[in-house]
Amino acid sequence: MKKNTVVMGTRPEAIKLCPLVRELRGRAGFFVSVLSSGQHGELLRETMHDFEMGADFELDTMRAGQSAATLFSKILLGTDRILRREKPDLVIVQGDTATALAAAQAAFYNGIEGGHVEAGLRTYHMRSPFPEEMHRRAIALMSDYHFAPTPTAAKHLIGEGIEEGRVYVTGNTVVDALRYTLTREPARMPTVPKGCRLLLFTAHRREHWGRTMEGMLRALRRIVEAHPDVVAVCPLHPNPAVRRVASKMLSGHGRILCIEPPSVVAFHRLLSESYLVLTDSGGIQEEATALGIPTVVMRYSTERTEGVLSGNLRLSGSGEEGIIEATELLLRPDSELYRSMRRPSAVFGDGGACKRIADILQKI
Ligand code: UDP
Repeated sequence: MKKNTVVMGTRPEAIKLCPLVRELRGRAGFFVSVLSSGQHGELLRETMHDFEMGADFELDTMRAGQSAATLFSKILLGTDRILRREKPDLVIVQGDTATALAAAQAAFYNGIEGGHVEAGLRTYHMRSPFPEEMHRRAIALMSDYHFAPTPTAAKHLIGEGIEEGRVYVTGNTVVDALRYTLTREPARMPTVPKGCRLLLFTAHRREHWGRTMEGMLRALRRIVEAHPDVVAVCPLHPNPAVRRVASKMLSGHGRILCIEPPSVVAFHRLLSESYLVLTDSGGIQEEATALGIPTVVMRYSTERTEGVLSGNLRLSGSGEEGIIEATELLLRPDSELYRSMRRPSAVFGDGGACKRIADILQKI
């Protein structure tokens, strides 16, 4: 029996790893434990609950206002303690968070093999996204098995000198997650008046905090004001720095609904019912592409270039005027561009990623 420990700390990690845990637990020959780093606290617990799952081990690491280095070191020490006691054969991490890097490093120090889900995403700008680009490159150095979502991601890894035989193209597990969540009934949904075009807006990236974020929020207000049939829904990110400015700048507008972050089941439903998405998120770019919802990516570069090339995503930059310009093109009545973007694409995966990863893990 192979002992695997899957480590997750944030909402997106839970969304992308819970379907894999479910797949592995459904197969013979695997013992799977889940370690939560606590990075997103209650939000993580709720997301796992949506996948009918809980953590076997949970670290108590989050404190308001602590530095990134403090959080990282707490996760490293906490994971190290559990790995020494539990002695798994393999530690699985996902993506590029502090949790993923700390857990990969704890596994490495303990001589335990590491598997990296969603390996090989790159912008090749070390500070964009910050600090995620550094995290994912460092995780690649320490991992033994690299589950690349796309051929492009695999190419990055091989180009960086990772042994080709250890890189597997599997698709992104987020598409598997969508398949699951969209069959569930959300407990609560925001009420959007019938006949309105729903614009889903999310912004949270650390490198956008401050003036850039204010410009993004101003752009949203101006866009909604210019289109009486558009209703914007803005789930507030749990980070207090983001919430404060968003609630302040968006409040008092009848067609901008700032809501508490919906559960992943409700969020995926909302996304599937959207006319247009404006986001600086990573995972939402993949989900919107899979569902065929046209998306303006409020960044200058993306590690999800496949969605730009497939014509599902449009980069606007993070400046106020650029965002308005890109969005206006898509909100025009009879926009040819909009029509061309409104079709699902499987560039990020076909919903079979977890099965592929489990097949590989069964063989190694
Ligand atoms: N998400 C959610 N509720 C929300 C906003 C996002 O469940 O209110 C989900 C979304 O479906 C996606 C993930 O959270 O899978 C993205 O998280 P985020 O944008 O915070 O992180 P990133 O993907 O940029 O790392």
